[in-house]
Amino acid sequence: MFENKKIFILGMARSGYEAAKVLAKHNNQIIITDIKDQDSEHLKELKELGVKFVKSDNPSDLLDETYDYLVKNPGIKVDHPTVQKAKSLNIPVTNEVDVAYSYFPKKLKIIAVTGSNGKTTTTTMIYEILKKASLPVLLGGNIGYPVCSLVDAVKENDILVLEISSHQLHDMKDFKANISIMTNLSPVHIDHFGTYEYYKQQKFKIFNNQTKDDIAILNKENVDVMSEENQINSTKIYFSSKVKTDCYLNKDTIYFEDKEIIKTSEISVQGVHNYENAMCAIIVAKTLGVSTKIIKQFFKEFNGVEHRIEFVRELNGVKYYNDSKATNTESTCIALSSFKNPTILLLGGLDRGHSFEPLLPFMQNVKIILTYGETKGRIVQFAKENGFKVEKYDTLLECVKRSYDISTGGDVVLLSPACASWDQYESFEKRGEDFKKNVNNL
Ligand code: ADP
Repeated sequence: MFENKKIFILGMARSGYEAAKVLAKHNNQIIITDIKDQDSEHLKELKELGVKFVKSDNPSDLLDETYDYLVKNPGIKVDHPTVQKAKSLNIPVTNEVDVAYSYFPKKLKIIAVTGSNGKTTTTTMIYEILKKASLPVLLGGNIGYPVCSLVDAVKENDILVLEISSHQLHDMKDFKANISIMTNLSPVHIDHFGTYEYYKQQKFKIFNNQTKDDIAILNKENVDVMSEENQINSTKIYFSSKVKTDCYLNKDTIYFEDKEIIKTSEISVQGVHNYENAMCAIIVAKTLGVSTKIIKQFFKEFNGVEHRIEFVRELNGVKYYNDSKATNTESTCIALSSFKNPTILLLGGLDRGHSFEPLLPFMQNVKIILTYGETKGRIVQFAKENGFKVEKYDTLLECVKRSYDISTGGDVVLLSPACASWDQYESFEKRGEDFKKNVNNL
């Protein structure tokens, strides 16, 4: 499919760069554009492969009917003028996942994870369990390794575990996974897709091209997933945190095909949402023949993905957790509902003018709020109006030091800021790293 063609790559970043490399090695003629300057080493490497890079604010002018494909970076808007022009010229729009897929050996087993929340955690759990079971497994996709970067590495009988976002699904046509997982659906990314309906349609493409020989793993408790399940042709395996089904949580135990797999007390990460992620991983592991012993070993050791309710340290009986990825109130609600212990909550960051009211039903264990950053004034007001103790500081470091001074054995200190990080940090990752450094220095 992608051999001896003329291809226009819109947007570089890591995925455009990896796609350009793979496509160039398969004798395609390539132009790649971006609005920003790019890493000089990458540009040199691409030039040696015959790829032409053009920095342009208006790449549409470079596109004409002589191109066979437009490979769009998932981050670029679906109605970008260059995409519209490609459509008007009948040039198929695709992306790096479909490009990589076209080069994969046919016996490769692909496990694809999507959903509104829990993608990275579930993908990581699956990958780590399969690795622990000594299966030939590779990790990629939205989790930070473009799928094209795996093309040279994969072998015939490998297993590929891929995190796939709605932005990637939008332009995918040929991709087919052997096992597809939809963790859940809720109205997110509406700004990118216009409507929730359109976003859901993109998400269901994770089951595209599947047949009865393939597997779809579905969340029985998610109304929006279940109301559309009729459009899925694959063999369905359900998980539920409430009712008996293929894999389910009953009281404090997870069962698969009615056999006990693991008690929640044997799982290091906490919260029903994490047990749901764990059930997805258990279904995949069991389907691929992994022993319950290995599954148990993994969940005992797994402290969560970095920055997602990640356990950092226990000091004087106080447990410190880093949930820097919680950049909105929804995520902070999930983090709060994961703990029964008295909680010192560190809140604050970029002020988008959003309300903190949605946190209230989940705050029964919060003993004090320590706030910092741009939102601190509004958070003090919110706390006082609702009868919570609150103290405000300029920096996260001061909040960490204060939490150490006022905490007592059995407490949880939780950084789950409910705000983006950009008022004081470059990214949520940098904020989380700073928190962990400060906690480890206590
Ligand atoms: P994603 O990759 O979909 O953004 P992550 O695994 O990175 O998801 O988790 C991000 C945040 O989403 C977590 O900190 C947690 O608050 C929440 N979360 C994780 N798993 C789930 C789930 N199964 N259901 C609802 N929320 C979840």
